[in-house]
Order: sequence, then C-alpha cells, then structure tokens
Amino acid sequence: MRIHINDPLDKQATERLKSVPGVELTSEHLEKEELLKIMPEIEVLIVRSATKVTADIIEAGTKLKIIGRAGTGLDNIDVKAAEAKGIKVINTPGANSISVAELTIGLMIACSRHIARGTIDLKNGKWTKKELEGHELFGRTVGIIGFGNIGREVAKRLLAFDMKILAYDPFVKETDMNVKMVDLDTLYKESDYITIHVPLTPETKNLINKETFSKMKDGVIIINAARGGIIDEAALYEALVNGKVYAAGLDVFEVEPPTDELRQKLLALPNVVATPHIGASTFEAQERVGMLLVERLIKEIA
Ligand code: NAD
Repeated sequence: MRIHINDPLDKQATERLKSVPGVELTSEHLEKEELLKIMPEIEVLIVRSATKVTADIIEAGTKLKIIGRAGTGLDNIDVKAAEAKGIKVINTPGANSISVAELTIGLMIACSRHIARGTIDLKNGKWTKKELEGHELFGRTVGIIGFGNIGREVAKRLLAFDMKILAYDPFVKETDMNVKMVDLDTLYKESDYITIHVPLTPETKNLINKETFSKMKDGVIIINAARGGIIDEAALYEALVNGKVYAAGLDVFEVEPPTDELRQKLLALPNVVATPHIGASTFEAQERVGMLLVERLIKEIA
C-alpha cells in the first residue's frame, strides 16, 4: 500500500507506519503541481494544515482510499469531494487541544501585560516601564465562543485564574463546569476578553465584524487561535486603532503566511501579539496527534 505524507508528521508516528508490513511510505512536502503528478499512485494521503486537499487533487487520486489529517480542522480538505468518491477522511480531534488552550492563555496574558512589546522595546534599548501598565485576568470576565474540546480546556485553566467564564455554543446547552452558557449578544456585552474556538464554516466566516465589535465592551481583548477568516481583519484593525479593542492575540490569519499589507498594518500595531499558527506546535501534541492518526489508519488498512 502506497502512503504519502505531505506535511511533517511526528518521527515516532512515521516509524510506526513504516513498520507495517506491505506499506510503502514516502514523506516529502510537494507543492500542488508535483502532488498532482503522484496522486494516481497513492492510496493514503497524510496532511496537516499546510496542504490544501482540493477537489482536483482528490480527483487525480484514482486509487486514493483515505485522507489522514493530523489535527482537528478539516477546512483544508474538500470533504464533500472526498465523500463523493467514497474516500474516508480521518482526523484526530482533541489530541492537540491542550496545546492550543495553553497558547490561548499565553496570548491572553501577553496581551494583558504587553509581553511582546516589552521584549521588543528592551531589545531596542528602550525602558518603557511607564507605558506598559496592564491588566490582571483575576476577577475579569472571559467569553468563550465555541465550547468544544479546546474551548473547554481553556475554561478549565481560566477557572484557576479566578475569572468569570461565559460561553456560547449553539450545540451546548449546559455544562457541569463553573461556566455560564449565554447567547452571543450577552457574551459580547459582558466580556472583558473574547476568545474564539469555533471551526471556520460559512456561518462563522467573519463572525467577528464591525457590527459585532460595536456590541462589545470598550477595551475588550480579542484572541483568535482557531482559524483565520473568523475575524474580519479590516474591522479588527479599525477597532484596535480607535481603541474599542485594547489588544488582540492572533495565531491564525485569513491568508497564511500573512500578506505584506497585513504585516504592515494590523501586525505592525503595538497592541497586536501574533504567532505563526503554532497552536498545536508542541512536541507533546504532535506526538499525540501523529500516533493517534497512525493507529487509526492502521485499523482501517489492516
Ligand atoms: P471542536 O469541534 O471540539 O469544537 C468546536 C465547537 O464549536 C463545537 O462545540 C461546536 O458546537 C462549536 N460551534 C460550531 N459552530 C459554532 C458557532 N457558529 N458558534 C459557536 N460555536 C460553534 O473543535 P476544537 O478542537 O475545539 O477546535 C476549535 C477550533 O480550533 C477549530 O477552528 C480548529 O480548527 C482550531 N484549531 C486551531 C489550532 C491552531 O494551531 N491554532 C489547532 C487545533 C485546532
């Protein structure tokens, strides 16, 4: 069975797959044109988020049986096109949730305490102590949009900071955690921090926009470690410049890597803390995700 890994997969997981009798494994990142050329030969394609598995790639996979996604979101895979051809799509929900939750909290603290700006200033020989007064998380209200695997891990940890926690999720009506499920308007109105943990879907595209910013508290802190495109970046820029939003912590962008325009405008603002989509990039999460995916694949091909 020919398996191709097109995005970096944990070493131990790759070795485990290699040890399966009958498996012929290739592992190399190919750009679309090159990937299209080998598609007719492969039966299993493994990706993370960098490879976009579009309908034409799926169409070219005449022997393709399984697409394995080492991670959660399936927005880089045309699942409908795969299902129409009877190709199974396997992912690993939950396996990287703790890493994303920890980064989310890191971004919240970095935004509250100007950690990135303080570092840049200090490295440039500037002692900006007086300009960098920040906020505590203690006693403040956080609104979590999307109360799935990551949203719940974020809540669990923020309870230890003694924050008041609100959450909105149309598919979760109650929880046994010390979290109040509310409607979106209440969440916008009452939150000092808003953190997003929903998938990117037609419903969540530009969920946070000019109109929704106007419903939020002045000085709100916004965190997005879910998917680019959920926040309207132009509206966020405006809200950061006019002070509606105190700071934003972003791990994901509508275009990745971001365009020069975004880098020169939104990312250049001193109150934006940004990381290059590293939510799941920990040794622990990648091992967990890789091993879980490989065990699931082995079950399928056995
Ligand atoms: P999940 O499926 O466990 O949870 C998502 C939750 O969002 C679900 O409970 C669902 O009911 C809810 N939801 C769906 N539509 C909604 C809407 N319109 N409004 C409010 N809630 C809605 O997924 P997860 O593992 O918690 O992942 C959450 C997000 O984090 C996804 O976008 C995923 O792609 C992203 N993610 C990012 C990274 C990263 O590297 N930054 C890594 C992993 C996952």
